[in-house]
Amino acid sequence: MSADNGIYILCTKDGYHVKEMAAVENYMWDEDRGKETKDPDVWIKNAREMWDGCTCHETIEEAYAEAIEILKKIKREGWFVEYGIVEINVSRNFYPVDMKASYFQKNGLRRCFSPEYNWLMNMSTGYFMRWGKNTDEDPQLSPFGPEILDIEISTRCSQGCPQCYKSNVAEGDNMSLDNYVAIMRKIPPNVSQIAFGIGDIDGNPDLQKIMEHTREIGLVPNITINGYRMTDEYFDMLARLCGAVAVSHYGDDACFNAIEQLTNRGMAQVNIHKVLAEETAQSCFDLIKKSKEDPRLAKLNAIVFLLLKPKGDRNTMTVLKDNTVYRDLLLLANELGVSIGMDSCSGPSMLKGCEGVASLDTRSLETCVEPCESSCFSFYINALGEGFPCSFCEGETGWEKGIDLYQVTDFIKEVWNSTRITAWRAKLLGSTSECSDCKFQTGCRACPQFDLTPCLGG
Ligand code: SF4
Ligand code: SF4
Repeated sequence: MSADNGIYILCTKDGYHVKEMAAVENYMWDEDRGKETKDPDVWIKNAREMWDGCTCHETIEEAYAEAIEILKKIKREGWFVEYGIVEINVSRNFYPVDMKASYFQKNGLRRCFSPEYNWLMNMSTGYFMRWGKNTDEDPQLSPFGPEILDIEISTRCSQGCPQCYKSNVAEGDNMSLDNYVAIMRKIPPNVSQIAFGIGDIDGNPDLQKIMEHTREIGLVPNITINGYRMTDEYFDMLARLCGAVAVSHYGDDACFNAIEQLTNRGMAQVNIHKVLAEETAQSCFDLIKKSKEDPRLAKLNAIVFLLLKPKGDRNTMTVLKDNTVYRDLLLLANELGVSIGMDSCSGPSMLKGCEGVASLDTRSLETCVEPCESSCFSFYINALGEGFPCSFCEGETGWEKGIDLYQVTDFIKEVWNSTRITAWRAKLLGSTSECSDCKFQTGCRACPQFDLTPCLGG
């Protein structure tokens, strides 16, 4: 941190942007004339680059709150801020109308506004709504980068679970705090959620700092844990920093004990992640029943079923192809009053399995079920900083190596709209083109990577 720095609040006609930087006077520099200018059009042009990626606050009070947090963090790290917090006024819109999205955060709500793509998220409950020009329109993709980032921060795991699609072992890779910060600086502000993936909870010594940094940049971290090697300190830390925690179900005790520890610390969004395969289908039904019976699950939020993918060196399980299992899981959950969810890979099977079942509201299901959104709304980054459409694509044909995010200077151009991603996206968006007889065809997407969708084409 050099001197000559300050925390600058850029005040524009459409909001307030906060950033710590040195040499702020560069915003007045007129490149063409080779000297400083008082022309606000030049100022705003420079300012858009200098404050790019910062959250846009609706009020100056919110901007000051962020500035004070930045100030405290710099001081905690033992540095100082020479000019303190300074307001810079430019009487122009930061976002040229019709060109970019605006982001606002207020009263626990984060919102994205643009002419054709909009969303709103409740940061405490995770409730998310997306719409297009108006609420009747459902955009097919985000033009401004991912809404959801799935970031693997460690591949170290000693459990050796047979269905592990990552084939993780005790020795593996970690993403350091510095690398995480470097990557997040490249990600556009459209992100609403970050889901961290880790094996052993103690596999990455930077876990807590990574989560704290996520909070500092205005995002709520979520994580999936395996429930093993937990201590009171880890439970406290997750309950303090995370919006949601999912515990993978590999055995009742490790999973249920972890759920109890987290919910007893006041967490409202604690879920179970359960792999759904031919071999585990019966235990998925059993788990729904247990969630009503086992006191450790009294405050569980939901069970989320994750469709097994044919992937992983140790994996000998079989992809579930029977759509009626989805229907029966939902019927049982409804009967017992248990909340369940599915991963987006299961979307088509869920819709098709429930089609025509009188006691299920398939109209609401169509609204709630979002089939595969990889590269349209979500993006995966592995522990080495490589980006892929989703975590399951990593290492598969065409994705033996991901896009090296450390080398990227313009995420939208070099990643989101790159040839590799746009080709993948076209495949995904066209994946149900043969399903003309299906009433779910509009908005349905089937996995372009694996054979997961038995109803495809019908
Ligand atoms: S590409 Fe396939 S495996 Fe990946 S998220 Fe989509 S449906 Fe799932
Ligand atoms: S559109 Fe195709 S993949 Fe989607 S539910 Fe219908 S048949 Fe299945």
